[in-house]
Amino acid sequence: MRKRRPNYKHVKIHRSYTVVEIARLFGTHKNTVRAWVKDGLPPCDSKRPTLILGRDLAAYLQARRTKNKRPCQPGEIYCVKCRAPKRPAGNMAEYQPITVSLGNLIGICPDCEKMIYRRASREKLPQIQGNLDITFSETEQRLTEIDLPTVNSDFSHGEKP
Ligand SMILES: [Zn+2]
Repeated sequence: MRKRRPNYKHVKIHRSYTVVEIARLFGTHKNTVRAWVKDGLPPCDSKRPTLILGRDLAAYLQARRTKNKRPCQPGEIYCVKCRAPKRPAGNMAEYQPITVSLGNLIGICPDCEKMIYRRASREKLPQIQGNLDITFSETEQRLTEIDLPTVNSDFSHGEKP
């Protein structure tokens, strides 16, 4: 079973885990777990193989979750160049679907005039929208015309830092 986000509640706090065990626990790649270690997940000592205390793992995942939680307010899209959430110019954005249930919200940064993108699930669009004026691309119409089965929400491109 793949989970989109590692759930810290699956971690047994009284045991320790190897990188491979953690990867298996969350159905993720072991390089992802190694990235967590680099990012601040503390191993219990410097010995090999790396062992991580369940307690530390749970705390790390919990903190990470809060940290990654909604960097943008509704109606905002993060501008990579300005390194800040922005309201797109004219409060306008286009929704460009990737799958039936997932797409990108695309706008223009009012400050640097670059295209800004925000990954958005179709379902959560109303929450993300804020007071944005969203247009839908033609692809969206084509996708909805074809009667595709609902794409499982497990759809994921893997972890991105
Ligand atoms: Zn910008």
